[in-house]
Amino acid sequence: MKKKRFYLPYLLSVIMMITLAGPQTAQTKEFNSNNVTVGSNAIYWRTERNHIGMLAAYSVVYKGWQTNNSRGYNIGSVLLSNDSLVNGRLVFWARNCNTITHNETQHGEVRLMLGYLAQLNSDRKHGKIVPDIKNLDGYTVYTTLEPCAQCSGMMTLQKVRRTIYGQSDPGFGKALERLQLNSTALPNGYTPYPRKVISERSNIIYCDLLEQAYKKAGPDVHITDFLKSEEAKQIFERAYHEFRNYQAQVPSINGQFLEEARQLVESVPQNFVPLSPDI
Ligand SMILES: [Zn+2]
Repeated sequence: MKKKRFYLPYLLSVIMMITLAGPQTAQTKEFNSNNVTVGSNAIYWRTERNHIGMLAAYSVVYKGWQTNNSRGYNIGSVLLSNDSLVNGRLVFWARNCNTITHNETQHGEVRLMLGYLAQLNSDRKHGKIVPDIKNLDGYTVYTTLEPCAQCSGMMTLQKVRRTIYGQSDPGFGKALERLQLNSTALPNGYTPYPRKVISERSNIIYCDLLEQAYKKAGPDVHITDFLKSEEAKQIFERAYHEFRNYQAQVPSINGQFLEEARQLVESVPQNFVPLSPDI
């Protein structure tokens, strides 16, 4: 009995030490995240970065809005250099140019991928120091409409890591998901296609608004015709307005990212811009 009483104060002090250790660990995590290393805010700064990326993609489309599709459809995208690093940044933008080029391969995402690599090569030839890459390994594509099979195929072969889209396409979407289907259990079935690209529907409010408005337009309206409508334009305009006024919630990590994203969008003209003459 005497021996047990002797250990009791020791046991209590150990419990107290463990209790105190909790908040200290949390403080350390917070400190690290403020110094731009991995920390408890790591998930949040990526979430905010996706929000900014989507706002930029809607803004690129809004800045070239057309009611007659004379350039192409009101669909566009921006490219994030690397979404797992804090120094990732938006490096390129593009819009659908099917009409003006008389070329139906000229979807926004195709022009984004071709155009960026062509620009790098052009800069390289002119002596600029640019990333030594021939594909988009680890990059993210933010696109206003869910990618089709053509764009998904290019993303897959170019090793794009992820695509995040700002409106589902009930007709031509889910191409990346279909590439990942495993049908080996069926006669003459196939394994999933190599090089999986993560495809995510954005949780941004404008995605909900566009999908609801398109559903209300009725099943006979083609999605690209809906994207010429005044209703669609107003949703894109709201996104552009938010982008221009947005304040970074994690400024130590996303402040500069937002500033550079604004510079990229500010450089976007209303009219058609040809891709680099090198391709
Ligand atoms: Zn496409």
